[in-house]
Amino acid sequence: MDELFKRIARWGQGKTEPPYTVQLHLTNNCNLSCGFCPTVSLKNENEVDYSEELSREKWIDLVEEGERLGVEEWHICGGGEPLIDKELALDLMERIKSYGARGELVTNGTLIDDRTAKKIVKMNWDHVSVSIDGPDKETNDGIRSQGSFEKAVNGAENLSRYRKGDGPQPLPSLLFLTSTVFDFTLKPNLAVETVLCSENHDKVVDMVRLTSDIGFDEIRFNTLNIWNEVGEKLAMDISEVHTLKKELKKAGEVAKEVGVGMSVADNFKAEDLKENIDTAREMGRLVGLLNSLGGENG
Ligand code: SF4
Repeated sequence: MDELFKRIARWGQGKTEPPYTVQLHLTNNCNLSCGFCPTVSLKNENEVDYSEELSREKWIDLVEEGERLGVEEWHICGGGEPLIDKELALDLMERIKSYGARGELVTNGTLIDDRTAKKIVKMNWDHVSVSIDGPDKETNDGIRSQGSFEKAVNGAENLSRYRKGDGPQPLPSLLFLTSTVFDFTLKPNLAVETVLCSENHDKVVDMVRLTSDIGFDEIRFNTLNIWNEVGEKLAMDISEVHTLKKELKKAGEVAKEVGVGMSVADNFKAEDLKENIDTAREMGRLVGLLNSLGGENG
């Protein structure tokens, strides 16, 4: 963090500084077809030419250039699903970790098989977010893609299992002496990312329980970005937001009970719900518009 502030200060003085964080959108392709996703809309309209995506060599060059510049943090996320080309993603992640940078991955989780989970844990990757939008098959698959719940939960459980077995395990007697010197937090930190919408607004307590059941550390409740008609239909009305706020209170208590971290998008915290939800919708449309020009999904 210190380094980040130093770079900002130097920018403020008009000096040129290299980027602190780089976000990689490895592909616009995805193995799922969630209705609200712009990648899917473009795919359906045959507007994506995957042959124009960067080659493996270009991606490696880019990470190597980042290392030379001193990039401290890498976020690997959408356009599409970054693990579509698993070997490419894992290779880049290993390169990032091998020079000591911090790494985050956002994935739909469905492609995390045993081997992938083991590799992610072994390389000491820092953070993985898995997108799950419902606590059960019916809710999640209704919002995302048919069959995605089972696969995402399975991928998430693979990560938890390998982290439990293969993560850094300090001897308890040494923990007190060393905890201020070394970071023994289990890696990667594991988060469920859930987009709040009309179909899951009353299921947030169960989402927290699911997060705990699959052995994840935290759940992040996010705002829906509206890209298309499906997104419009998923947007909550004002009474649903009222219900959501009540349920979030309960979810917060359950999260404390079960030891899961929970964060909620700012849009759902304000007192003035009417203005709040209008703002959330407008923000969702705006973010959707910006992202449709080349942005990030989950
Ligand atoms: S929202 Fe994510 S998982 Fe779903 S189709 Fe789009 S990129 Fe794939």
